Amino acid sequence: MKASFVLLPGDGIGPEVTKAAHDVLVAVARKFDHEFEFESRPVGGIAIDEFGDPLPQSTLDACVNADALILGAVGGPKWDDPNAKTRPEAGLLGLRKELGLFANLRPITAHRQLIDASPLRKDLIEGVDILFFRELTGGIYFGESSLSDDGRVATSVMQYSVGEIERIVRMAAEAARNRRNKLTMVDKANVLEVSRLWRRVSARVMEEEYADVDYEVVLVDAMAMHLISRPRDFDVVVTANLFGDILTDEGSMLPGSLGMLPSASLGDKPPGLYEPIHGSAPDIAGEDLANPLATILAAAMALRHSLGLETEAAAVEAAVESVLDSGMRTKDIAASGKFFGTQAMGDAVAAAVGA
Ligand code: NAD
Repeated sequence: MKASFVLLPGDGIGPEVTKAAHDVLVAVARKFDHEFEFESRPVGGIAIDEFGDPLPQSTLDACVNADALILGAVGGPKWDDPNAKTRPEAGLLGLRKELGLFANLRPITAHRQLIDASPLRKDLIEGVDILFFRELTGGIYFGESSLSDDGRVATSVMQYSVGEIERIVRMAAEAARNRRNKLTMVDKANVLEVSRLWRRVSARVMEEEYADVDYEVVLVDAMAMHLISRPRDFDVVVTANLFGDILTDEGSMLPGSLGMLPSASLGDKPPGLYEPIHGSAPDIAGEDLANPLATILAAAMALRHSLGLETEAAAVEAAVESVLDSGMRTKDIAASGKFFGTQAMGDAVAAAVGA
């Protein structure tokens, strides 16, 4: 297969972790006889420095024509001035908007080798493997908002259309079919009209198009508890922007290590955007201390969700597991004093893919 990747290293540790993901993708291409092309473009703070714009037109043009985008992270103290004309994060928001990325996917996987890092008891966290689909471009974050003239009353509107609900429920149901065939839809239908629309639309889509998928609905407040008390019971979870924002951050704490968690943002058509959930970690940037595994696992998601290369995606995930099995750790996940650098960790995963 021929495929083109745009690498968006960004700021801080972004370039280091993106290089590791690139090297692993090169190993995948070699092992499975694919032709992957890569080009690197500036986004975020570095793009502000070079172009005065966190998302230069040349970067956007390259992204639009790619099959998948691998992003490191953006931001850092250098660009934190609250009075600045623009900020690095505007590059990310602009990319999501321009590319119509309406679904945010976040896998929450408990790696058995790191189980002791979880704040949950081992018997609760073992075997957890959840894939969240958070709606990303609608809902209360994008609804009308207002503040009364006297500043004493504020309003934020949560609005969804049938089409917005259908497209993400379908995407989540498709993913469920390729996993353990279970979909949980989370809403607040006992209180919110907008959630009642989610419930009706979602039930219809599931009944008419995905009757083979095991489907359930859970109220968001109950879900916040279930995620802690019985996280193993969930496979794919789909929900609106606000609920997803909170639940995915709650979920990201379960495995106990920020450097291990990838995410993806997808729209109706390519490219998808793949990135670690962590930020640019300016405190360790340039020191070969960053854990590259989240970005490498994001590259695996790109193989699966943008290129349809399931075997290759699984090979990358298995390579990560085998490197963890070998006892190799970066500093953030090392229980003892001994640890390896970003480059060594990336090299080890690339070698395991090629083995
Ligand atoms: P952060 O995720 O960058 O760092 C939090 C802590 O986790 C730090 O101690 C850091 O060293 C550590 N850490 C993060 N990723 C790591 C990794 N891969 N390996 C080892 N340790 C890791 O969050 P922050 O400090 O709140 O934010 C720093 C900058 O990143 C800010 O400018 C923020 O706006 C930006 N940010 C960007 C994104 C993004 O690009 N998607 C997301 C979150 C934060």
